[in-house]
Amino acid sequence: MKNHSSKMNASAHYSKRRKLRVAIVGLTSCDGCSVTAIDMGAEFIAAVDHFELGDFFLIMDEKNKKAQYDVTFIEGAPLTKKNIAALKEARKRTKILVAYGACACQGVIPNIKNYIDKGKAVRYQYPKTWKQVDNMDILPLRKYVNVDFCLPGCPPDGRDVIAVLNAVREGINPRLLENPVCYECQLNGNECLLQKGEPCLGPVTRGGCDAVCLNLKFFCKGCRGLLAGYSSAQLEQQILKGTSRKNLERILQVFGIQEEWYNSQKKT
Ligand code: SF4
Ligand code: SF4
Ligand code: SF4
Repeated sequence: MKNHSSKMNASAHYSKRRKLRVAIVGLTSCDGCSVTAIDMGAEFIAAVDHFELGDFFLIMDEKNKKAQYDVTFIEGAPLTKKNIAALKEARKRTKILVAYGACACQGVIPNIKNYIDKGKAVRYQYPKTWKQVDNMDILPLRKYVNVDFCLPGCPPDGRDVIAVLNAVREGINPRLLENPVCYECQLNGNECLLQKGEPCLGPVTRGGCDAVCLNLKFFCKGCRGLLAGYSSAQLEQQILKGTSRKNLERILQVFGIQEEWYNSQKKT
């Protein structure tokens, strides 16, 4: 995914005079990304302690609604006009904007709505109030504002959250693992599901999750997005030997990577 490797604005980073200010903002989300950070416990507290925490939607209200931030993590996808306005406002008030998690990077679960009859879906879900519901296509943050860095995963790995905080503090670009999921999967000694004829997106998906799904015997659905420079063409041929294109597309739609999947094939 393009934004995984995008560079932060170096001039935005480091000040020795004061603590950098950080905000963690939630759009429409399940809160899982932020819970992952909190789950890091003392490590997260130690990393955040180097910052002035001005806003963290999960645990505190922002006191100064006009505050400026050095870095803002944005969790969730913009599903409503209010979300889009909040996103644009956050962009104006921060030097570095981090798309925090797969909803922010790719649209993820809400993005499934893009592939069905939206009108029918909203009337089914909200039979009495559907006229009041914003029923937009679900797009990742980068379609609305400039994103400096994409922190992948549904949810992201807590260690990556710490790595990004530390990199921002040190004024360097965060580096995430560039190996495919297969790398960690095989290090963990898992039996290869793809070789057994099951679909698995591990060969072209960005690793760094410790192949957690494979460790639990579930195949990889690509929540961390595709590795830059990889084509899915060969893997697609392999997967289609064991499953239909319709089923493959259903898998690609779960984490919002269908467009990226086909785009990767055009480049080769
Ligand atoms: S990326 Fe996953 S964990 Fe994070 S808000 Fe979206 S659905 Fe929840
Ligand atoms: S099971 Fe999936 S992730 Fe693991 S080695 Fe096979 S293709 Fe790669
Ligand atoms: S194995 Fe795949 S789907 Fe599971 S967490 Fe890792 S990247 Fe996401």
